Amino acid sequence: MTVFRTKERIEAKSPEQLELMRAAGLVVAGALERVRAAIAPGVTTADLDAIAEEHIRAAGAVPSFKGYHGFPATICASVNDEIVHGIPGDRRLHDGDLVSVDCGAILAGWHGDAAFTAPVGEVDPELLELVRVTEDALWAGIAAMAVGGRLSDIGHAVEQAVRTAGDYGIVEEYVGHGIGVEMHMDPQVPNFGRPGRGPRLVQGTVLAIEPMVNHGTRHTRLLEDGWTVVTHDGTHSAHFEHTVALRSSGPWVLTAPDGGAARLAVAG
Ligand code: MG
Ligand code: MG
Repeated sequence: MTVFRTKERIEAKSPEQLELMRAAGLVVAGALERVRAAIAPGVTTADLDAIAEEHIRAAGAVPSFKGYHGFPATICASVNDEIVHGIPGDRRLHDGDLVSVDCGAILAGWHGDAAFTAPVGEVDPELLELVRVTEDALWAGIAAMAVGGRLSDIGHAVEQAVRTAGDYGIVEEYVGHGIGVEMHMDPQVPNFGRPGRGPRLVQGTVLAIEPMVNHGTRHTRLLEDGWTVVTHDGTHSAHFEHTVALRSSGPWVLTAPDGGAARLAVAG
């Protein structure tokens, strides 16, 4: 989930604090792995929500979305033209759907936040490509995090990755964010823009990077439930997110089981 903030400030975490955030990140990673394994035609989004909540509570953590500004569930489940913040319920997944799952947890006071989009059964190859492009754009953004670099380098890398891949719409109204003892902290992390701007990235920076990419135009609409954000033109959308810490050695993906090693090796 994302919110707007006006201030721009990056709070550096100590190595000890990063270890605590890693533990929270692994709880989220585990919950999302279990949800991903359960995705199939006929499963409801409420079923997925229950799986995530059970995993988080069994780990001694708390679902951070539940009760956040009144949000009623542990995950956001956004299907097809839903971009983000879909509310889990009786909706059954069907063969050919895309489902985006966003999940956050608090462990010992520290937050983790991550999301993925997955196909349900057999999906149109064009939509699989949308999913691939969005995930690759996330990793391009992660790979752009370097000590001494600037905040806008991340969004620039995300945008370049998407633009190079084809004619997609990058959502602008919802953005990534700083994260730590709160889910949403300064600064905002847009998924577009020119490089070399904004605060300098320092050791101990932790950001949630989360591109949302539409198959059509970038424009969005909020449904009457006050939460669900959909594409204005009704096309499908994809969303990927990781919570990422910056160390002297480079990015450490706190919500990836391998810390991001495999994907960052490919990204160079
Ligand atoms: Mg999220
Ligand atoms: Mg987020």
